[in-house]
Amino acid sequence: MTVTWRTLLAETQRAVGGQQVGRWIVEAASGCPSDELTTLLDVEVGERASARLDAMMERLAAGEPLQYVLGSWGFRHLDLAVDPRVLIPRPETELVVDAALDVLARRPARRAERRDGEHLMIADLGTGSGAIGLALASELPLDGVTVWITDVSADALDVAGANLAGIGRRARNVRVGLGSWYDALEPDLRFDVIVSNPPYVADGDPDVEAVVRDHEPEEALFGGPDGLEHIRTIVSGAAEHLRCGGSLVMEIGATHGRAVAGLLDRAGLVDIDIRPDLSGHDRIAIARSFAGG
Ligand code: SAM
Ligand code: GLN
Repeated sequence: MTVTWRTLLAETQRAVGGQQVGRWIVEAASGCPSDELTTLLDVEVGERASARLDAMMERLAAGEPLQYVLGSWGFRHLDLAVDPRVLIPRPETELVVDAALDVLARRPARRAERRDGEHLMIADLGTGSGAIGLALASELPLDGVTVWITDVSADALDVAGANLAGIGRRARNVRVGLGSWYDALEPDLRFDVIVSNPPYVADGDPDVEAVVRDHEPEEALFGGPDGLEHIRTIVSGAAEHLRCGGSLVMEIGATHGRAVAGLLDRAGLVDIDIRPDLSGHDRIAIARSFAGG
């Protein structure tokens, strides 16, 4: 029996109980961008596309997150490839990018920059899909910017590398480093902004949703008994890797605001600012390497 894309779209939307989600799934199965699917609606669905759709529906029925099944997910204006090797980029992490851009916009130019022109140095530690670092690279100017994206997971960097190829000309501003936190960077580099969304969920936290625990990479989520293990490492190395007046911008857990503010203070960082996410939970920690500006 022949089936058109229109029929398949309606069936899928009914099966998943959502117009938009059904459309995303059918678009992904068709391999066509959204505007092209509209032109296909009265065309017969080929066997391969139909098999692709069946496989996607099976994965969804087995409880796999929609984002992995689709194989890509939006983050700010980027469409990032995602698969089970990387954390699915979260909406609250888009605010981390805003915070980093904000810090860069407000930072006073250094004396050498006023003379020679500025060259911004940015590091996204634990980049996963590349979300934060690639968004920054693609939203900052083409000239005078270097963004390091790093991860301890070579698998994650494979995904980030694929996404890097998708950001166009600004890809030339991006360097990729494999290794644990600061070890992934070339020695002696200093940064205007170090940004990170490290794993910060406490081991065994009962509030982690089953779909997250069962499908997203463990090493992207868990940060030791209190969730702060990686944050401690990042905070303690920050002053040594920031330029004078440079800032550390981190995503943190909703219950970690006070503890992280204390860590930042004890590390000698200043202008400590803990900001909430859209639900009003502590989510972003910002601090500068010294008070002088
Ligand atoms: N930055 C991405 C985002 O915001 O969507 C991914 C964040 S995920 C919460 C944390 C990332 O840190 C994972 O990609 C994980 O592989 C990486 N990671 C875990 N331990 C690390 C370490 N010791 N050094 C560097 N990266 C690490
Ligand atoms: N926000 C993620 C969650 O939903 C955790 C991300 C992280 O550990 N950085 O569990």
